[in-house]
Amino acid sequence: MTATPGLGRIGVLAIQGDYAAHAEALSDAGASPFLVRKPEQLQESEGLILPGGESTTMLRFLEKHNFFEALRSYCGTHPVFGTCAGAILLSREVRNPAQQSLAVLDVVIERNAYGRQIDSAIVTADTELAGGPLEMVFIRAPRILSVGPDVEILARRDQDPVLIRQGHAMAATFHPELSLDRRIHRAFVELVRSKR
Ligand code: GLN
Repeated sequence: MTATPGLGRIGVLAIQGDYAAHAEALSDAGASPFLVRKPEQLQESEGLILPGGESTTMLRFLEKHNFFEALRSYCGTHPVFGTCAGAILLSREVRNPAQQSLAVLDVVIERNAYGRQIDSAIVTADTELAGGPLEMVFIRAPRILSVGPDVEILARRDQDPVLIRQGHAMAATFHPELSLDRRIHRAFVELVRSKR
């Protein structure tokens, strides 16, 4: 698929983790992705994906390079999508253990919450997105423990919300970039477009 004319550039935070797969998924969804490694690159970006990986490693980098505050103010006003570790970074409160976060989503989240035996799994479950059930790849996934009243739940794994949206922010506790289905990236591209 070629880039949709008029669609601006969407950044993928490329500190650590599987940012390359997100860039590919965004291209498939019709956007023009680029990798964001420095705070000044945020200005070129109409929206941002915070990928999966290791949230503590990302946090350390952000703090060391004076990037945390810039990212927090960007995420407060621009379309953002956090997956797995990225969802942890966007949450209001992080547990197991507690750590700093960007507090964009009114969510309490617990890291590495699914235990050793089942810490990685591929699950198919219903979603509010059109087009039927969704494949979800979980890798040492966090669990969303509670959500505030403004959070829309787009999919659940058993009872737990796993795909959510609140205003200009989206989060998935799984890895949509690792499935062939591009509905979630398309939904984010649509969100970016709707916030222009
Ligand atoms: N376990 C990671 C964390 O706590 C998240 C795992 C992932 O992004 N796949 O940051």
